[in-house]
This record gives sequence, structure tokens and C-alpha cells, in this order.
Amino acid sequence: MDSNPSRTDAPLIVIRNVSRRYVRGIDDVHALENVSLALHANRFIAFMGPSGSGKSTLLNLVSGIDRPNQGDVLVAGQRLNDLTEDELARWRARHVGLIFQFFNLIPVLSARDNVALPLLLTHLDKAERLRRAETALRIVGLEHRLDHFPRALSGGEQQRVAIARAIVTDPVIVADEPTGDLDARNAEDILALLRQLKHDFGKTVVMVTHDPRALRFVDEAYHLDKGLLLEGEEAARAEAAIMMAAGGGVAAAGARLGR
Ligand code: ADP
Repeated sequence: MDSNPSRTDAPLIVIRNVSRRYVRGIDDVHALENVSLALHANRFIAFMGPSGSGKSTLLNLVSGIDRPNQGDVLVAGQRLNDLTEDELARWRARHVGLIFQFFNLIPVLSARDNVALPLLLTHLDKAERLRRAETALRIVGLEHRLDHFPRALSGGEQQRVAIARAIVTDPVIVADEPTGDLDARNAEDILALLRQLKHDFGKTVVMVTHDPRALRFVDEAYHLDKGLLLEGEEAARAEAAIMMAAGGGVAAAGARLGR
């Protein structure tokens, strides 16, 4: 049941009448059509939907990787449309922590140095950067792996390093299929860790996922289909279908949403 008081606050992320179209050959691809959405801070949020429904496009707009053709994207009061490419890159470095399906760690750097990397863009000295990296690695349960290189870590551990790297600058965490390359146990551990970061540290996590397990961990799931954001009954049906396919049943989905 959802009883988070931050819901009454101003939203952290506002997507207003956003459309994103791509030209592919002679076709216009409508990746997103007139999507509006308000996301609050200190929430664990999922974008779900079939392949090609526009989830990654929406995530890329939220994280300032891409821009809409139409409409506004605001994050913490900053209208991303107003920023130049350079400003947007600097904004991303400060405000967005990215997590990918394949971890994207630098193989020649230790876990500690991988996590400290985003802090090179700050004014912090080296000792402070390493101290903060160690703190982030401790939070994700890897204090015993500080000097390990990525190849010496399991998939689940590598994703934990990537999560530590994504929280070290204290940004919004944006995750694209973070459990896509993990087995069932590691996937659940990573979903639980993301939820814990929200709960214990007030983090905001926005995630694209196909993973039906995610429904047990997130506060809100938004369902997309063919570039449209589903609402009301349509969204409830999409969610029930995911739960049924995963063997969880409709009741579980309804219970999570307090319906
Ligand atoms: P999802 O993440 O739900 O699988 P995407 O957001 O990646 O969907 O893609 C939505 C639609 O936009 C798809 O039809 C995809 O082929 C198209 N698309 C995404 N990115 C591009 C691009 N850079 N150029 C052309 N078409 C794209």
C-alpha cells in the first residue's frame, strides 16, 4: 500500500506532452506520443511494456541522454530542453547515475576506482573521492571487494559496483534493464538493493524493465504500448497480464497497487 508522504510534494520529474519521433528510411517512427507523467522523489519507479513500446526512449529523455521533438522534460525544476549539448552533458554528470544491463565497468580499474570515476568531475580531492567510493561500495555490500577488478567479480557483484558508481554523486538513479543479464537470485538481490537505497537513503530510482519480478519491489509501474502511456483500466490490464505470465496472479498486482 502506498503511504509515502512525499507524494504531496512537487514532483521531481515532470514529462509534459512529450513526443519523440525518429525518421527511419521513409518512415516516421512514433517512439513516444504525447506522454505526460509526474514522478515524485524517493520512489522506486518502473517503466514496463513490450519491446519497442518506447520505454528506453522515455528513460533517455528523463536522463537527458535524448531530447523530445515536442513537449517538456523538467527534472528538479530544470527544463532540460533549454540546455545545450554541453550543458546537458554536465547536467547529466551531476544529476543522473546510470545503470545498464551489462554493467559497463572499466576493466582495468578496481571496484574502488570504478566507483570513484564520476567524482573526477567534482572539486573533491583524491582521498575524499576514494573515501566516498568506499562508502558507496559498503552501502551495496561490497566492502570486501574494494581492490578487485571487474573480471574477478560475479555478475551480481559487478552490478553492485555499477550501482555504487551510480549513487556516489548522489543523483537520481536511472537503470535500463538492470536485471536483464542476471540469474533469478541475483536479479532479486539487485531489485531489493535498489528498493533499499530508496528506503534507507531517500534515493529516487527510475528503471526500465521487462522483469515481472520488479512489480514486487517498485512503488509505481507505468505501462507503455506503441509509444502511448497506458492509463486506468488499460494499465491495470497490462500489469495483470505481466503478473499472470509470471505466475503471480492478478490479486498480487492489485495488492501492490492498493486496488
Ligand atoms: P523499448 O525500450 O520499449 O524496447 P524503444 O524506446 O527502444 O523501445 O523504441 C521505441 C521505438 O522507437 C521502436 O520502434 C524503435 O525501433 C524506435 N527507435 C528507438 N530509437 C531509435 C533511433 N535512434 N532511430 C530510429 N528508431 C528508433
